[in-house]
Parts: sequence; structure tokens; C-alpha cells
Amino acid sequence: MSAQQWPRAVAVLGAGVMGVQIAALLTAAGRRVYLFDIPAADGATARVDRALETARQSRPAIFYTAAMAGAIVPGSLDELSLAPDVDWVIEAVVEDLAVKRKLLALLDDGREDGPLISSNTSGLSIAALAAGRSPAFARRFMGIHFFNPLRYMKLVELVASPETDSALFVRARTYLQEELGKGVVAANDTPNFIGNRLGVMAIMAFLHQMEREQLKVEEVDALSGKLMARPTSATLRLCDLIGLDTLARVAGTAHRELANDPWREQFAVPVFVEQILKAGLIGAKCGAGFYRKSESGILVLDLDTMDYREAVAVDLGALKMLRGSAQERVQGLWDDGGRWGELAREHLSEVLVYAAWHAAEMAADIADIDRAMRWGFNWELGPFELWDVLGMDTVNAVAGATEPALIREVRASPEPRFYAHTGTDKTAFSIERGIHLSVEVDPEEIELVALDPARALRGNEEAYIVDLGAEIGALVFCGKMNALGPAALEIVQWTAAEAPFKGVIACGAGQNFSAGADLRHIALFIERADWGGLERFLIDFQQAVSALRSASFPFLAAVRGLSLGGGCEFAMAAAQRMVAVETRMGLVEAGVGLVPAGGGITELASRTNTQRLLEDFAAIFTASFSDNAFAARAAGLLRAEDAILLAGDRLFTRARQAITKMTAETYKPPQVEPIAALGDGGIALIEAQLAERADRGELSEHDVLIGRCIAQVLCGGVGAPRQVARQDFLDLERAAFLELCKTEATRARIDHMLATGKRLKN
Ligand code: NAD
Repeated sequence: MSAQQWPRAVAVLGAGVMGVQIAALLTAAGRRVYLFDIPAADGATARVDRALETARQSRPAIFYTAAMAGAIVPGSLDELSLAPDVDWVIEAVVEDLAVKRKLLALLDDGREDGPLISSNTSGLSIAALAAGRSPAFARRFMGIHFFNPLRYMKLVELVASPETDSALFVRARTYLQEELGKGVVAANDTPNFIGNRLGVMAIMAFLHQMEREQLKVEEVDALSGKLMARPTSATLRLCDLIGLDTLARVAGTAHRELANDPWREQFAVPVFVEQILKAGLIGAKCGAGFYRKSESGILVLDLDTMDYREAVAVDLGALKMLRGSAQERVQGLWDDGGRWGELAREHLSEVLVYAAWHAAEMAADIADIDRAMRWGFNWELGPFELWDVLGMDTVNAVAGATEPALIREVRASPEPRFYAHTGTDKTAFSIERGIHLSVEVDPEEIELVALDPARALRGNEEAYIVDLGAEIGALVFCGKMNALGPAALEIVQWTAAEAPFKGVIACGAGQNFSAGADLRHIALFIERADWGGLERFLIDFQQAVSALRSASFPFLAAVRGLSLGGGCEFAMAAAQRMVAVETRMGLVEAGVGLVPAGGGITELASRTNTQRLLEDFAAIFTASFSDNAFAARAAGLLRAEDAILLAGDRLFTRARQAITKMTAETYKPPQVEPIAALGDGGIALIEAQLAERADRGELSEHDVLIGRCIAQVLCGGVGAPRQVARQDFLDLERAAFLELCKTEATRARIDHMLATGKRLKN
């Protein structure tokens, strides 16, 4: 069986917080999923049904579309039997060794060719879970530790036992990385593996420091967030997210199991945390932890009174001005001569020395330890990357402890750093071999190198084009939020007409495709009442979109993040789209009192019919955007054949493969065909709905005007149903856009958006 076909179907055991999310992910990947849990008093699968219903309504969404929740097959653990097509079982029941072992015993049929069996345990011993099982079972068993929330956390720790079949390990790794978009690290079978071991050690170290130094909640988080190259959830906000009870349990496992660890007491729960636990202030899941939301804003827990109070601003002194890269921020904090620097040095040196002492115990590869902290805890730099930034002598001087053996070895090596670069090759110090070995480069880094603006053939502040070799190019939008103004349009036009390529990937720099046409540019025309200039800009926009659509070679839009307004129109016009699942796509112009005028309504008009009309109208009129690529497909913004990637990190690599294939085939640009216009009948249908909603007080006068403008364009203008030239549709778009720009209410909407970033209802 090829890796592509594996797995055909998956059984997830346990429909709790993690089980449901794992089931949702695999369903999105197109796999058949069976989800089991213990029976409830009101039915054998009632627990699973309820879990799915709750997940369906959760925000942020667990399921990309409601239909996906319906595709999961519920089952009861009391009648556990696996369908013949199940070739992966994921155990995700309660974190209790005895419960898990009992369940795993039921799956042990001694078959050599049975499914991969994995446990999502957060830190129980994989060997202990497999103890007593048949050799055939042990070969098929491993830990596969997903992180919560699964949709957003990239890390998966794979944990083999000495018996685990290495081919199966590689198969699981490949599937998780290439199809599910996870960042996989190989962790050793030690308590709490890598992420939870180091991440929880860092949190606990801060809690102890907080107790010793009498630090306030705000102070800890001001110090341990961005300044320390960690996420803004810092330490205590993160505690609230994880839940203090869960944190205490995970720390408890380390404290119990790591009897010989010199840092063991770091995992003991400080007295003040025990008091918070006793008071039940365990975090977000009960509405109160170190922070509590109130009507007046976010309150913080005062540890002296154990009551909530307003947050006070933390005086960070010169550190307030600290900006720049993660390296620059951490270095600046480390060098700070005041109290903050002192606290940071104490914390960081302790965590770095801890990581170095225990590296060999946790993994075979220091790069995997760094990745685990970046992907599982959103640190911008892992501990060994930090060792390199700060310098070994510097950290050792502060730590004062005996130098870890690993640091001694690295210092003695020809390249006394953890990571080294020679050309494009990246090497990392190997714990096992004691020398620097090549490390796998993350897909994002490959993309960054390929799209380096320094290699641009032509470019400006809004877009540039690079040669990727093999007659393939990349057109990159790169302005603020990749917004599209005249400079970007010029590069699009040039690329379509003159670039020496057989295929071009259109994409955005960073995490977004494009947030749309530059609203500031439009606002300037309006301010000067320069309607001629505005019309010229709209014509240029439409011509750039048309040029991309009808170029002699294919454009493939590689879409992720925001693809809104004009960005969405460019994406829709490309010959093909490859879309990362985390894409927010929509024609949102009506939100600022405008209509799409870059061919977006025209594109929907070419796909609509009487049955779909009101739905397509609503998509434009409500200025809504999809939460993900599957929803964008359901909304008609993507075509059925557009590829959706769960592995968003591989978007660029896959787009490159796809465009190469497209050029190899004989590409023919689409014909500029006339569009079947619905005319008066369609307009009447929409206007009737607008009138009804206006009567009910749901729409303002201006809403109705915008709705009527959209109706006119979407239905190809007044008249009988007929074939209308695409250019006539585009002319209608521009006319509607200009009409709305001349109204006070649209001007107010645009001004409000530019001033506040929010929509104005008027
Ligand atoms: P949960 O409490 O939300 O769900 C556990 C499920 O186990 C429930 O649906 C429950 O009905 C079922 N269960 C309880 N007793 C059982 C029994 N005796 N036999 C069979 N099933 C039983 O837990 P969760 O957070 O989803 O955690 C599941 C696993 O995933 C645990 O091993 C946990 O350590 C791990 N994990 C959790 C997280 C997280 O953030 N929650 C993250 C990574 C890994």
C-alpha cells in the first residue's frame, strides 16, 4: 500500500477534548473516522453525539464545515470492534495508565498486519503502556502526542518504544507532516516528552520566581512574553489557557517520575499556586484564573488579597522601546542593567541549562527540542537557538552551575555553536555523534529563501517577481497586508505581458495572500472628488485582473491567510488555486459601502443561476468572509477542483510542483465568453428581499442602495435574461462603485474603517 493511501480509515478512542479534535482533523483530510467513547445512561453513543454537537458549535471552529461533523461514525467502547478498513487507531481517553492499558489490551489480537495503534498520552511511559502486550502489538504501537488546540498547534511528538517498527514510524511521520501539516519531532520515552517537560519547567520556574521575588501578575507577563521571544500569552495567561489544574497534574507527573532530576523541585507546586487551586481559580475554563474578564475590562488576581483588581501598567523603562527580531529582543532584555534584566537572566539561564542537561534524555536531536518549543509552545526561539544567540560563556557565567556536558562538547567542537550554516546547508550539533550534521530545513525556510526579495527581477514596494528556475516565476504581493495599489498592478501587468516564464505562482509575502485594494488610495480620490482618476484606477485594476486571467501562461494563486476584496478577485481569476486551509476569503467591499469592482461580481455572475442567486448575492452584500478554505469552497469562492491543503506550511512547495505540471500540459487561457445574465427577474428577486428586510428595520437606506447596486451588476443590468459580454459586466461594476463613492454614507464608512479598522453601520 502506498503512503498516499494510508490510512484508509481511523478509529479514535475517546471523544473528549482531544479525541474530537483529532477526529475533526482526519475527517478534513478526507479519511473515514470512527469515534468511540464509553456509553452514557441515555444511549450507547450518546456521549460521542454530544461531544460532536458541542464541537460543531465551538468557536474558534473545530470543524471546518458542519457537514464534516456529520461524516464521523459514532461508536461505543463497550462494543469496540474495528471496521476492516481501519488502519490507524488513536487512543485519546483519560490520562490514566490503568484505563489506557485495559483498553489497549482489547486491541491486542496478536495480528502482525493489524493497524498502527497510537496513544495521545501527554507524558505517560509508552513502554509502560505497551508492557504485557504481544510482540506484534508492540511493533505496531507508538506515542503520537498532538497538542491542543489541534487546529492551531503544529507540534506532534512521536514516541517509539524499542519494539516499535521503524517503517511504521516513518509512515506515521510522513503522513502527519505532509498531509496533516503537523511539525513532527521524535521524542524519547521520558516523562512528559519534550514540549511539556521543558514548557512546564519554564512555567514552573517563573511561578517559583514570582513567589520568591514577590512579582505581580502583570510583571511576570510583561517580562515573559514578546521581550523573551515567547508568545503574548506569556506565562500566566498561558496558565489560564491550559488550566492550573492540568498544569499542576503535568508538573506532578514530572515531580513524581523524575526522582533523580536535580531540578525536580522546580516541578513542585508553589504554596501560592496551591491556594489559587483551592480557591478554584483554575483559569479560562471556569472564567477566572490569574485574569478575569469584567465589564470594565480584564482584571488581574492580586496575590495579597486573593481578589481581582484593575491591571496596573508595568514600568519597563528602556525595554519598552525594545523592538526588532526575536534575537534582538532577547539580547536586549538579557543586557538590561536593571531589575528586569536580572530576573530575565536568572530565568533564561536556568531554562537553558536545564535543556542542555537533559537534552540527550529527551531527544536524539537538539533541532527537535527547539522545534518542539517553537511548534508546541510558540516560542520564537528554542533553547539551543537561544544558547547560540546569547553565547555559551555568557549563559554559563550567569548560571554558575557546573557546565552541562553537552555545552562542553559543543565548545570543544570545530564550530562552537549549536547551529552552523554553510551556504544553504544548515547543520546542528548532534548529541549522539558529537559533530555537526545536516538538519532538515523547515518548508517555511525553503520558501523564504526562494522568495527572497533581494532576488527580484523587477519589483517595487507593493509587489515583486522572482525567477524560481525552470521557467517558473513567483509574483509576490508585499505591501502592508499585501494591499494592492497602482504599484502592485504595474507588476502584475508586466508579468502577464512580458515575464519570461511558462507559469507563475501568485502569492503573498508572509502569512497573507492580500487584504485587497488599498483603501487609502481610494479614499484620496474621493477626498479630491477626482472621479476621473478613480475610474482610471478601477480600469487599471480590472485590466490587471484580466491580464492575469488571460495571460498566455497559467497563473496559480497560492492562497493563505487573508484573501479579501481585490485579493480574492485576483485569486478567483487565476487559472487554478492552491489554498491553505487557514484562509479567510471573501468579497468584503460592502463592509466599507462599496462593491467589488475588480471582476469579483462578474466572476460570481458567471457561476450563479436562479437557485443560487440569493446566496451569491448574500455573500457579497453581507461582506462576509469564510473562516477557512472548505467554507470558501462551500460559499462558491473556490472551485471543486481547487486543492485545499491542511499542510499550509507546504503551500509554496506544492504550488511549485503543480505549476510545473500545468506548464508541461498544453495550457490554453480561458476564452472570454459572454455570461448568461439573469436580468430583470434576478434583480426583482433581490429587490423584493431587500424591501422586506428594510420594512423589518434590518437594513438602513444606504444598505438598500448598496444591495441594489450589487443586484444590478450580479444580474447583468436591466433587461430580459440574455448573454452579456464580460466587459459589460466589468463596466457595470465600475459604475456601481463610482456611484457609491459619491455618497456621504460610503465616505463615512471608509473614513471609519481607516480610522478604527472597524466597520461603521450607517
Ligand atoms: P477528556 O477528559 O476531555 O476526555 C477523556 C475521554 O475519556 C472522555 O471522553 C471520557 O468519556 C473518556 N473516558 C473516561 N474514563 C474512561 C474509561 N474508564 N474508559 C474509556 N474512556 C474513558 O481528556 P482529553 O483532554 O481529551 O485527554 C485525552 C488524552 O489526550 C489524555 O491522554 C491527555 O493526556 C491527552 N492530551 C490532552 C491534551 C489537552 O490539552 N487536553 C493535550 C494533549 C494530549
